[in-house]
Amino acid sequence: MISATVTSVPRIGPNRELKKALEGYWNDSTSARELATTATRLHNQYTDALVAAGCDSFPTLGRSYYDQILDLCSIFDVLPERVQNIPSHPNDGLPADIDRYFATARGTAEVAASAMTKWFDTNYHYIVPELSRDTVFKVGYEYLADIREQGVRNPGLRPVLIGPVTFLALSKSIDGSDLFDLLPELTQAYARLISRLARTEGVDYVQLDEPILVTDFDRFNLVRETYTTLAEHANLVVATYFGCANRAIEALSGTGVKGFIADLVTSPSELPAWTGEEFLLAGVVDGRNVWRTDLHQALKLLRSLAARGPVGVSTSCSLLHVPYSLENEQLDEHLRSRLAFGAEKIAEVATLAQALKEGTDLPALETATDATATRSTLGRNRTPLERRRQAQEDLGLPPLPTTTIGSFPQTPEIRRARAQLVRGEITADAYDARMLAEIEDVIARQEALGLDVLVHGEPERNDMVQYFSEQLEGYHATSNGWVQSYGSRCVRPPILFGDVSRPAPMTVRWYEAAQKLTDKPVKGMLTGPVTMLAWSFVRNDQPLAVTADQVAEALREEILDLEKAGARIIQVDEPAIRELLPLRKQDHAEYLEWAVGSFRLATAGVKDSTQIHTHMCYSSFNELIDTVIDLDADVTSIEAARNGMGVLAALKQSGFHLGVGPGVWDIHSPRVPSQQEVDDLVSAAVNNVDPALLWINPDCGLKTRKWPEVEASLKVLVTAARNARAALV
Ligand code: GLN
Ligand code: ZN
Repeated sequence: MISATVTSVPRIGPNRELKKALEGYWNDSTSARELATTATRLHNQYTDALVAAGCDSFPTLGRSYYDQILDLCSIFDVLPERVQNIPSHPNDGLPADIDRYFATARGTAEVAASAMTKWFDTNYHYIVPELSRDTVFKVGYEYLADIREQGVRNPGLRPVLIGPVTFLALSKSIDGSDLFDLLPELTQAYARLISRLARTEGVDYVQLDEPILVTDFDRFNLVRETYTTLAEHANLVVATYFGCANRAIEALSGTGVKGFIADLVTSPSELPAWTGEEFLLAGVVDGRNVWRTDLHQALKLLRSLAARGPVGVSTSCSLLHVPYSLENEQLDEHLRSRLAFGAEKIAEVATLAQALKEGTDLPALETATDATATRSTLGRNRTPLERRRQAQEDLGLPPLPTTTIGSFPQTPEIRRARAQLVRGEITADAYDARMLAEIEDVIARQEALGLDVLVHGEPERNDMVQYFSEQLEGYHATSNGWVQSYGSRCVRPPILFGDVSRPAPMTVRWYEAAQKLTDKPVKGMLTGPVTMLAWSFVRNDQPLAVTADQVAEALREEILDLEKAGARIIQVDEPAIRELLPLRKQDHAEYLEWAVGSFRLATAGVKDSTQIHTHMCYSSFNELIDTVIDLDADVTSIEAARNGMGVLAALKQSGFHLGVGPGVWDIHSPRVPSQQEVDDLVSAAVNNVDPALLWINPDCGLKTRKWPEVEASLKVLVTAARNARAALV
């Protein structure tokens, strides 16, 4: 039995040490030995911290260099065929397949990277395994050697692996076969692996994570069979998170599994299926948000569960999703008293476990905020589309107007200027002057290219959410709150802690500066309410719907100020609207009601003559076309080129009647598309969507690209629009 632990551990390091080592290794400035040592040291430090706090079981990923799903592909030797020619690494501390592993994650000049996608409804991204009916799973020994080393050092080690059901459910079938046909063979491979782990010194339990079991996934008979087999080979703990564990517990009880980890934060269920035969690690400390736990409440829940069977304490999910520690964060004391990052959460787990064991009491959370706000009563409807269309005719746009999504390259000079400003090496005025010069350049280049609707290029924005969070009341932008997003990439989600409001205009002067330089319309550019929430840590003392409305009202004021300043077109980006979609269908309608409602609240205050745009990306929107229609934006740009314009059929089928710009240039790679390619994509669009509704634009913003490829590609895009216009008449 385990009494205190966390569900799983982050690997990037409190000061992003692994990020730096990885990037150094990739650009040849860090040796293999140093990279391996860094990973081991970070791992050991984390275990030491868990030991010191009083935990009695220590999750380990082994040495994990990029992503846990990719780790499994390495362990079972199923990295894609196309990386197999890359030579093995000499024995210098890193796994022999490390260069194939990195090639799968990041691509090389010769081979394409595997797809990367969001891990459930979080902002972490995993590498999608590519499997087929011919896949053969072998068991790699280096991983085992790693665990052995760590186990000798630290008894109580608990290897954590993604379980076979979730692994297959998240993999891509490259030959269209049902990957669950592989389950019996994969189960055998897991059996071999975990029986070796079970025999490893220092290892008492092996944890298999099966978060897929909280979604609508329903092949529970397979789950039962698999775990009946696996439980013969090791003391297993099965973890679910991000949703209710009850169905998983129901399927797995009596299979021989020794214990469960259940997320009791996302879904505070009483787990009626839990009989007490297996032990329960109750995830009462939130692993993915930053608020302190109400220890008094949590202990009450733990005690009521403990009356039914053996109970220990854990976090609701891996601590991968929150920053390491409050220690290095500059905060006002009131906000600090409400927060718990990773280190503080570990302490909470230990405190709860001790109180549970000793029967002592814990104080209730006293920092309750006065959450009294309600949903906004401002209007959410614009006048009918026809009237708006007429009022917008004098924009004087050609058929198939061309535009971009907002950002232009964030050059090293722009980043340097921002770093200098943060360090106080240049004045705010000097910084502004640099940004204005950049805007001037961006406008001139767009004019030369012949684009129809221009943008100012967003040089002043470090990040599309952080930029606004720094200017809104109720938001704290952290200084060191890094969280791994994927591989070596980390983000610093701001903390939305209070009532949100806008003390002053946020973007108007940049818009004005750009519009002054051109006769073409310049788009005002904002981040929508849903995306502002999706990429922040959000207060949990009131419904998200209420918080979203507060952000929307602030944006509404900004939009009206942009309109007053002369903006005729205003874009409100919602790239993340798909990502907050609940994991279970039964919860979709409620989410979409407030998500769409907040967008409409933000945008409904404008005149008929003001054209509202929105932008979405990161995922196929086919299933969300009705949602896009509900947003009622005059024009929506959608990522489309990357998935071969898959969205067109859905647009056609839905009778889409609003303006739409399916992306015709995949901006995720530096490759400049050929004229033929873009012409073909534009033709496909023209053939599926009423040309009167069509816009021509790239898939997404251009901040990560370089100028030469941007100018060359946009030239192709503008020419494609001209070619298509000529064909229309
Ligand atoms: N306007 C933003 C940009 O161009 C949109 C980014 C996004 O969709 N993620 O960068
Ligand atoms: Zn985008």
